[in-house]
Amino acid sequence: MALKKLVAGNWKMNGSLAALDEIKAIAAAAKANPGADVAIGVPATLITPAASAAPGFAIGGQDCHWNASGAHTGCLSVAMLKEAGASFVIVGHSERRTDNHESSAEVARKAEAATSGSLMAIICVGETEAERDAGQAVAVVTGQIRDSVPVGSTGANTAVAYEPVWAIGTGRTPSTGDVAEMHAAIRAQLIDLLGEEGTGVRILYGGSVKASNADELLHVPDVDGALVGGASLKAADFVPIIEAGAR
Ligand code: PEP
Repeated sequence: MALKKLVAGNWKMNGSLAALDEIKAIAAAAKANPGADVAIGVPATLITPAASAAPGFAIGGQDCHWNASGAHTGCLSVAMLKEAGASFVIVGHSERRTDNHESSAEVARKAEAATSGSLMAIICVGETEAERDAGQAVAVVTGQIRDSVPVGSTGANTAVAYEPVWAIGTGRTPSTGDVAEMHAAIRAQLIDLLGEEGTGVRILYGGSVKASNADELLHVPDVDGALVGGASLKAADFVPIIEAGAR
């Protein structure tokens, strides 16, 4: 049975209080398109104002620490994100894996902390262009899944986002055949790891999703949603992607 699609935005280090009108418009579009789940990961400074501006709409963070508290300057715990108003958290985004040298083992600890603390985890994986060129994309990504997705994850508390690093913010996307091949491999790896529960974990595609390609990408087999960066910042760009997910 097809899973309900999740169309999630990742605002990265963008947005200020002036952007709350965009959140409100996106939340209104989410309400008008109940065929898809919709969520936005905002900078931590915007979690509380965004959650207040759009009650009932899924607002999330973009990273968390696995510890509940302690000497971790600049980090946020799952309980802090929750108290601020988050209902989910993105972990292991390739920008954090690169900029902050996060390993899959650390990503797994973050995801485990998130789900233990009742935040849904969106766990990101994806190969570099060099890895794809070397024919290693499937092996790299399934390895990241094995090492980043905690045993015990469920369809209710976890989604995975396949984001080829070379497609993020570049305007380039893999062919639908390559997306289908990767999502099928991820599904098989999730079932290997989680058993039957692996059939219910949504696998999002991310990397230069926009209004003009959303319909096609969102209807590739085993694509259960999208993680969208640049095109999630403005409701005018994001709403057509929500509509594509709801179709
Ligand atoms: C992302 O950062 O998760 C992303 C997919 O970015 P973009 O949509 O801008 O490529």
